[in-house]
Amino acid sequence: MTRMIIIGAPGSGKGTQAEYLAAHFGIPAISTGELFRTHVREQTELGVEASRFMDRGELVPDRLTDAMVARRLDGDDVGNGFLLDGYPRNLAQLAALDALLADDGKQLDAVVRLDLDEGELVRRLLQRASEQGRSDDTEEVIRRRLELYQEETLPVVTAYAERGIVVDVDGGGDRAVITERAIAALGSFLETPR
Ligand code: AMP
Repeated sequence: MTRMIIIGAPGSGKGTQAEYLAAHFGIPAISTGELFRTHVREQTELGVEASRFMDRGELVPDRLTDAMVARRLDGDDVGNGFLLDGYPRNLAQLAALDALLADDGKQLDAVVRLDLDEGELVRRLLQRASEQGRSDDTEEVIRRRLELYQEETLPVVTAYAERGIVVDVDGGGDRAVITERAIAALGSFLETPR
C-alpha cells in the first residue's frame, strides 16, 4: 500500500517518471493534467471550462480540480494506493487532499520531488512543444506555468518537507537512470521506520 505524490516543475519529466514509478509500485499514476486533457478532447462541460485556464497556463479553479480528484480517488483501482502527478499544486489543494484522505483514515507515504535547473526545464519544454504540439507549450504560456510553480507549488513542497515525507531526486540525465534513482531513493525512504 503506497500513497505517493510526484512534484516537479513543468518540463521536469514528472509525467514520464510517474508512469514508470507507478508501474514499478503496482499503483495507478493519476495525472490531473492528463485527466483535464481527456476532458478537453471529449469536450465535456469540465473540459470546456478547464481549457480556458489551461491554454493560458493558469491553474484550473480548485473547486473543479478537487472534485475531479475526489472522483478519481474513489476508483476501484486505487485500493493498493496511487501516485498523484500534478496535484496538489497549491496549499488549498493540499488541504483538500488532506481532508479527503483523513475521511478514509489514510495519509500520504511519500512525496517525490524531481529537481532540474531552469535552463534545462525550458529546453525540455520547448522540445516537447515541437514534438507533441501541446497548446500550452508556447513560450509565453511556459513562462507563466513556471512562475505559478514557483509561487503556488513550491509552498506545497515546503509543507510536505515539514512533515518529513519529501524524497528529493535529481531529475537530470537519461529517463531510465532517473527512474532507477527515484526507485532507490523511495525504497530506502519507505523502508525506514518513522
Ligand atoms: P500538467 O500536465 O500537469 O502540466 O498540467 C497541464 C495544465 O492542466 C496546467 O497548466 C493547469 O492548467 C492544469 N492543471 C493540471 N493539474 C492541475 C491542478 N492540480 N490544479 C489546477 N490546474 C491543474
